[in-house]
Amino acid sequence: MITKPKGTYDIYGEDAKYYNYINSVFATVANYYNYNFIRTPIFEDSTLFHRSVGESSDIVSKETYDFKDRGDRDLTLRPEGTAGVVRAYIENKMYGEANQPIKLYYSGPMYRYERPQAGRYRELTQFGVEVLGSDSPIMDAEVISLAYRTLEEMGIDNITVKINSLGDNESRENYREALIKHLEPYIGELCPDCQKRFKNNPLRILDCKVDKDHVALKTVPNMLDYLNEDSKKRFDKVLEYLRYLDIDYEVDASIVRGLDYYNHTVFELVADLEALGSASTVAGGGRYNALVEELGGPATACVGWASGVDRLMIILKELNKDKEIQDNVDVYVMAVSEEERITAVKLIQDLRWSEIKCELDSLDRSLKGQFKQADRLKARLLVILNDEDLQKGLITVKDNVTKEETKVDESEILDYIVSNI
Ligand code: ATP
Ligand code: MG
Repeated sequence: MITKPKGTYDIYGEDAKYYNYINSVFATVANYYNYNFIRTPIFEDSTLFHRSVGESSDIVSKETYDFKDRGDRDLTLRPEGTAGVVRAYIENKMYGEANQPIKLYYSGPMYRYERPQAGRYRELTQFGVEVLGSDSPIMDAEVISLAYRTLEEMGIDNITVKINSLGDNESRENYREALIKHLEPYIGELCPDCQKRFKNNPLRILDCKVDKDHVALKTVPNMLDYLNEDSKKRFDKVLEYLRYLDIDYEVDASIVRGLDYYNHTVFELVADLEALGSASTVAGGGRYNALVEELGGPATACVGWASGVDRLMIILKELNKDKEIQDNVDVYVMAVSEEERITAVKLIQDLRWSEIKCELDSLDRSLKGQFKQADRLKARLLVILNDEDLQKGLITVKDNVTKEETKVDESEILDYIVSNI
């Protein structure tokens, strides 16, 4: 038997319902916020991710799926969504459109060669948003609020927004120097990855999952103390808007995010749930004002985030949110003889075109078997066809909750069902 590749899973049955529910709530909320859908390729030129996500990030240094195609091109399965969106923004000259800023949302599979565990897969699904072309703190607050409200709409309310500011280039550089000075005496004791990060991108050490409890990390200088006046003002403005928007946030100077391209605001939305262990972050993002230029476009201020659908599926199950997901059929139509079946086939078509979710038997079940199947499908109404009634032009409808039975004139059956569902 051929089995699925390690770190992947099939989404079907109950999982599929959660998966679609999560994506549809997100698309609905994104629409209220006036974001437009974008779909970019699942593979891109490898250089795109090396230049954007960054060589020193975990994602590019050890998690990408790289391959050569038959034309000897170097391609990479996308590990995240922002790089592709930015590439598309530049290539399609969206910066020249009249309608600014460009506000986009996406959803789809991403690929990371990680060690699989709960909430951590090699094929994962993310949805996310990007605002390109606005430097306003209002947009920082807007994207955070969009993430927060989406989760709230799904019934997840034990969420905290952990937020920090990396500041502008000057602030970031000042902090980098202070951090290097602080870490130098300890560097021999940190993990091999951190030793590499120390040389390439020391800020990344703050994101290390191995060394997070080491005294060197517990006593790092506070990034917020190194923000210059402008950066500090900007950050305060974002926090002020979050307060107006009633968003629970916690300033956390240890948030740096796993990607290289951020500046100013960075944030994570964290769920308070044991089942997720080290995978409790459900969304993360920030401002990336240098990335568009870095990839060859005009200087463009941007902010965005991505959220992991797989982790949200685990959370919704944990919280027993299955009631939010409509999965019952409205009507089950029961027929045994061929005459009854013909009526059933016709009726079910009319019901479906009246936007009623319905089902009939296709396994030659007995009447008793069909009653059982109707229960499995949690049918609200049962239409019980029988030849004797049909000859008189009548159809029996049974309410499967109250168990009440009514005989309805065949010509009025559609209206009756529509008004009783
Ligand atoms: P982590 O610190 O947990 O590795 P990350 O910083 O790599 O997360 P991002 O790149 O910001 O995560 O991705 C955004 C979201 O995507 C995460 O908050 C998480 O919900 C989800 N995610 C990331 N990696 C995985 C994975 N391997 N499997 C499932 N979901 C993931
Ligand atoms: Mg990661």
